[in-house]
Amino acid sequence: MEVFAEKFADLKILRYDVPGFETLNLQKKLYIYYLSQAALCGRDILWDQNNRYNLSIRSVLETIWKTYTGNRESEEFKQFEIYLKRVWFSNGIHHHYSTGKLAAGIPKTYFDELVSNSNWSDFTIPSGKSFEMFISEIRNVIFNPDREIKRVNLEPDKDLIEYSSNNYYQGVSQDEAEGFYANLKTSAGNRPTSFGLNSTLIKENGKLAEKVWKLDGKYGKAIEQIIYWLTKAKDYAENELQMKTIHHLVEYYQTGDLALFDQYCMDWVKEQEGEVDFVNGFIEMYGDPLGIKGSWEAIVNYKDMEATKRTIVISENAQWFEDHSPVDPEFKKAEVKGVSAKVINVAMLGGDCYPATPIGINLPNSEWIRELYGSKSVTIENITRAYFLDSVNSGMLEEFACSTDEIERAKTYGYLAGNLLTDLHECLGHGSGKVREGVNTDQLKNYYSTIEETRADLFAMFFIMDEQMIRLGLVPSFDAVKAGYDSYLRNGLITQLTRIESGQNIEESHMRNRQLISLWVYEAGRPENVVEFIHSEEKTFVRINDYQELRKLFGQLLKKVQRIKSEGDMDAARNLVENFAVKVDRKLHEEILARFKKLDLAPYAGFLNPVYELKTWPCGTPNDVLIHYDEDYTSQMLRYSKDYGFLPIENE
Ligand code: ZN
Repeated sequence: MEVFAEKFADLKILRYDVPGFETLNLQKKLYIYYLSQAALCGRDILWDQNNRYNLSIRSVLETIWKTYTGNRESEEFKQFEIYLKRVWFSNGIHHHYSTGKLAAGIPKTYFDELVSNSNWSDFTIPSGKSFEMFISEIRNVIFNPDREIKRVNLEPDKDLIEYSSNNYYQGVSQDEAEGFYANLKTSAGNRPTSFGLNSTLIKENGKLAEKVWKLDGKYGKAIEQIIYWLTKAKDYAENELQMKTIHHLVEYYQTGDLALFDQYCMDWVKEQEGEVDFVNGFIEMYGDPLGIKGSWEAIVNYKDMEATKRTIVISENAQWFEDHSPVDPEFKKAEVKGVSAKVINVAMLGGDCYPATPIGINLPNSEWIRELYGSKSVTIENITRAYFLDSVNSGMLEEFACSTDEIERAKTYGYLAGNLLTDLHECLGHGSGKVREGVNTDQLKNYYSTIEETRADLFAMFFIMDEQMIRLGLVPSFDAVKAGYDSYLRNGLITQLTRIESGQNIEESHMRNRQLISLWVYEAGRPENVVEFIHSEEKTFVRINDYQELRKLFGQLLKKVQRIKSEGDMDAARNLVENFAVKVDRKLHEEILARFKKLDLAPYAGFLNPVYELKTWPCGTPNDVLIHYDEDYTSQMLRYSKDYGFLPIENE
């Protein structure tokens, strides 16, 4: 199987393999197969959550692609194809990472020409609208720069809802939404459900109301399908607890009752025995600037036995790490509970995990469930391996690493160091530390995600260099640590800038946290020249001069950031983020973009799913599941729209 599939705009499409799938027993194969179907059925939900015009626009663009009778070899048609591919990739019209609206790359007049030479009767028109009205509205949304500008706007001085064009709130201001959920929270006990997670907040006759995402509510047509496949999967579950988990999830999808979702989360965390596992639901809140609404996502996976050994060692020693962490004793957990850890391979990606994919998962998100029951942390081995295989020969190291030693280290230890840092971040980082009585982490508002990711990263950076890691047999040599540090700072100070457009600032939480950490240690270590910017032949490089000192700086910052989270110190969070994480050195940025451009690489990657084929021949009952890797990007996207396009087009 070839990892690389294709490249366009700022994106590349890769494939992941599903190692050992063929050797799983039939029950597990079928369990994965049915869960995979459920994982694809909520795709339309995410599209609609991202923006209310997304499903319409996808349908219009796909109809043009399928029926346009003009010249399909022209440069303009190629540009149109690229736009369509970008929309597919982003699950909508906004860039998946920057969340700014994608430029169509074609003139408005060409769009008109595409529409008029396509098959009009194939366009799906929402009820109550004429063809002309509908097309002109879609055209306006795509081409008018003042409409639907940004999916998630985090500018602190603006109304975060009004200026964000996601579809989680309708006719509601930020103050109203915050007030609405604050009221619900104060009237709840100390184990509140995730209020607002699974609904659209609307204003009806001057009153706020929630449209809940459930079987007989909003998104019901897709949810019905998810329930159908989950119910089939249940018959092949590996144990009682998995069955119970699915049962609660189905009930939750039927009723929208968040207490049932909590019940599902608790069972899901407890279930550790099975080999196959999955996520399916309204999970992460990054798409909502207020961090309340969950975007729909799904992952089906199974354990990678070999690599899991590594994270078992880490999690078994969780208490040691907590006790030796450099944070104030007041903010340490006396007892670190339930840090489970495993390495998985994904078998199917859906919703917000597709095609852009996380490399680790740490769930559930509910704070009190985490405190009482712990969380599940996973590193996704087949995804990280695909990334590494693709990257090692890209030329990036040769261009941006500051010495041949650094390149050697990266090639030898980069994969291992990256995995260890992810393991430490996911298994220990997020679960470490304690919040002071009475403090609610919501106080950090739009800075929370960045502060939390910073904290988890720092925990990893501090401990990867600890002698304990060598004693535990996880770190083979000091060079492996160096490779980890080199690559973190090279990325945080230099290479991640390739993902920011000229003139823009950093918005995304993980990118913010990486620059925050890198720039802070650079500034703090300046008197001793711990980290240095080197200039050679008009190129800028980062060199670490003192790894031991650098580790101390990571520890100092970890202590600071833990205090901010534990005390809910909004002013300190704002200062740290605004001073270190957001702004970009314009001159350096231009230089990096120019060097990167010469390499002709794509800064973002996403993954195609394999295709599973259920064998029922000759006896009519399922007797095997075959796996294929040969579907290309366009075919996969069109097939998903056709086979899993369950939601009507409404633009609401
Ligand atoms: Zn994280």
